[in-house]
Amino acid sequence: MKRVGVIGGGQLAWMMGDAAQKLGVELLIQTPSRDDPAVAIAQETILAPVDDANATEILAKKCDVITFENEFVNLEALSSLAQQGISFRPRLEALAPLLDKYHQCCYLRDLGLPVPQFFALDKLENLESKMEYLGFPVVLKSRRHGYDGQGTFIIPDLATLQEKAGVTNKELSQSLFLLEEFVPFDRELAIIAARSVDGEIVAYPVVETQQEQQVCRRVIAPADITPNQAAEIEAIAHTLLNSLQVVGVFGIELFLTAQGKVLVNEIAPRTHNSGHFSIDACETSQFEQHLRAVCGLPLGNPRLQSTGAVMVNLLGYENSHNDYQSKRQQLAEIPQAHVHWYGKTESRPGRKLGHVTVLLDNQNQDSASVITQTVEAIWYPS
Ligand code: ADP
Repeated sequence: MKRVGVIGGGQLAWMMGDAAQKLGVELLIQTPSRDDPAVAIAQETILAPVDDANATEILAKKCDVITFENEFVNLEALSSLAQQGISFRPRLEALAPLLDKYHQCCYLRDLGLPVPQFFALDKLENLESKMEYLGFPVVLKSRRHGYDGQGTFIIPDLATLQEKAGVTNKELSQSLFLLEEFVPFDRELAIIAARSVDGEIVAYPVVETQQEQQVCRRVIAPADITPNQAAEIEAIAHTLLNSLQVVGVFGIELFLTAQGKVLVNEIAPRTHNSGHFSIDACETSQFEQHLRAVCGLPLGNPRLQSTGAVMVNLLGYENSHNDYQSKRQQLAEIPQAHVHWYGKTESRPGRKLGHVTVLLDNQNQDSASVITQTVEAIWYPS
């Protein structure tokens, strides 16, 4: 497998660039805009939205295999390409139960994995009886196309819920919602795992993720959890990847409650923000791992090479075309820091523009919170 087609050209595809070069693989990208990050590392770009299956058919003619950095695809249209013999890794059947958050929750529950209580919110009439069961606050989620907390709302009371579900329903005609028990978690965790063509599975160390306004701000590797909790989370990853017969990398987001209970929040059927630390901190990054799996190569070593690592997202905080050269320079001067800048031409509040990973080892005994404060004090205006 030498030519890999990637649906989506954001930072996740861009970060496959170095790994592709190392493995001697060519990346061909399907993405809507010439300004998208991965255009810079692509052998060839097909300019088209990610759900344009006609474009994917053209892409596939030039590639040995197709993979995803973005899952907002048209599965039905892609299925007819798969029937014509086009190879997708992961296979489309592994994506099918995950693209709708309600179907995803049902799939996880039916597998026996621990999930929060949930309901599909299809008819507003049944709301009050459902709410007697779930209580407030409650979490309202768009079933489809949510990312970075867009489409996730924490709702304090019935009036707000009726308003939010009603209004948004009108705006996004036919949109369906999921109602989920609010989990008063102690911490949020994540695990990145990969499965090979032969069914071998490797998992990265469990990390702690820190969200603000539902957007990931920081990741701490490894998470400070018990060996039993780590084993439980690894077992969840094995169950899920085996059940879906995944080929490639998946990210699993979890809640850890104050009582030490683990619940699965969400599955990302691709590389994930919580695994970016692996580029600098592990022998095999999640991006190399994904390409290895997709190309039918043996998987690499996912272990940390340092004591730990802290990854801080550089989120946009204004509308601008600034490339923030001087801030990036200051960030690069932090000891053991690796700055990754995605080359987006436009900054908007909340947009992921880059990230910094700082390695922790004998020479760097600073705590994760001191490091994140240093990075964020440089990046965000005071
Ligand atoms: P997205 O798909 O946009 O990433 P998520 O479903 O992962 O959305 O939710 C984003 C964040 O919202 C989570 O990381 C968490 O902080 C918060 N959240 C989501 N679901 C719940 C829940 N059931 N209880 C408490 N907080 C939640």
